Amino acid sequence: MRKASSPLLLLLFFAFLLSIAVGYGLAQTEPMAQSEQPAQVEESSIFDGITKGKERLQREWQDFRQSIHYTTSVRVITVGDIMVHDNQLQAAFISPEAGYQFDSYFTEVSPIFAEGDWVLGNLETTLAGSDKGFTGYPQFNSPAELAVALKNAGFNVITTANNHSLDRREVGVLRTLDRLDEQGFLYTGTFRSEAERNEPLLLTKNNITIALFAYTYGTNGIPIPNGKDYLVNLIDLEQMKADIVKARQAGADVIAMAVHFGNEYQREPSVQQVTLVDQLFAAGVDIIYGSHPHVVQPFEIRTWEDEAGKEHQGVVIYSLGNFISDQRGDYKDLGLIFDLTIEKEYPSQKVIFKQVEAIPTYVNRYWQDGKRIYRILPLEQVVKDQGAEGLTAQQITQLEKYHEELRGHVHSRLGENVFQFLRTPPVEK
Ligand SMILES: [Zn+2]
Repeated sequence: MRKASSPLLLLLFFAFLLSIAVGYGLAQTEPMAQSEQPAQVEESSIFDGITKGKERLQREWQDFRQSIHYTTSVRVITVGDIMVHDNQLQAAFISPEAGYQFDSYFTEVSPIFAEGDWVLGNLETTLAGSDKGFTGYPQFNSPAELAVALKNAGFNVITTANNHSLDRREVGVLRTLDRLDEQGFLYTGTFRSEAERNEPLLLTKNNITIALFAYTYGTNGIPIPNGKDYLVNLIDLEQMKADIVKARQAGADVIAMAVHFGNEYQREPSVQQVTLVDQLFAAGVDIIYGSHPHVVQPFEIRTWEDEAGKEHQGVVIYSLGNFISDQRGDYKDLGLIFDLTIEKEYPSQKVIFKQVEAIPTYVNRYWQDGKRIYRILPLEQVVKDQGAEGLTAQQITQLEKYHEELRGHVHSRLGENVFQFLRTPPVEK
């Protein structure tokens, strides 16, 4: 892919033009009378000449800029819900002194994350501290070592709006954000203050700015403290529209929303999900990352023209599924790595989706030395390698089936006109 290497060439070209421009400008000054000595040229006429040359150079530079074409791009890798159930807490525990260790989850997926400019996940637990007690379902609180493992794995952006955001109430929200700060994460979805909530998260790289927001349908009936609505972003179309306007004003090229919604264990989006997605696209959102159902739902790529005839593109993955959890069977141990390349074209500055890939994953859980081990396996790799650490031959056969089935499922809502976006289009049957 062409990167922004051309600006360096332009700079050299600019320097070259500058050197001839001064001479060119001087040549345009009034010709000297024969009798006059060159040393007596008026200083002001030299500056006149330079100014004229500079103006012309600027015009030529502008024309030149308008005539060149190049692109920049960013790759955004997004996963679904990051959960820690009781079995995982037991498995991650080393000793009171050494604490917890979650790194095994990510060994097989971190090489994929390394390809991303932005790596996003939804933290569906709190990091509220050991004094609040570490627990899994139904009210989650996980050790801070989870944030360390996420950082080690390659995540750099975390969304925190989900139905478990308030599992350790306000203090849990605040402490979770502190733990994320300690690891240098960018995050959105829960906030310490109104001011923090009103500042859109802007992810800028290679001259492409993505505004990221996160919202949840609710907080499992745990009330948001009075006067502290800013703590958790709830789905609210009017608020979301206002956020879109603010993000555009802040210079966002792309608006992405992580939305925690849908019905648990349903593999197709609900009417409410589809309706909200339609409304968000109409309001100007470009990318929607759904999570919460604990199973993967399909994705769509839409292209449409607005009333002014301007073309739009939108990508929605209705549910990314569980990325890591202790839920087993009925597709709950399967998830997705959603890999999206966004490209900006110059000189038009038009932003397009260049390539999309939904990579199915499986949470393998096995015993080793009397302890459970969890590993997230990219299924394509397992099929290719015919194995992975901790997998039995029997499992490989099962995972091959899962891989094929899940790839069919995630692509099931795509029209054929969007296949050009896919790195690996589904096989025609
Ligand atoms: Zn949820």
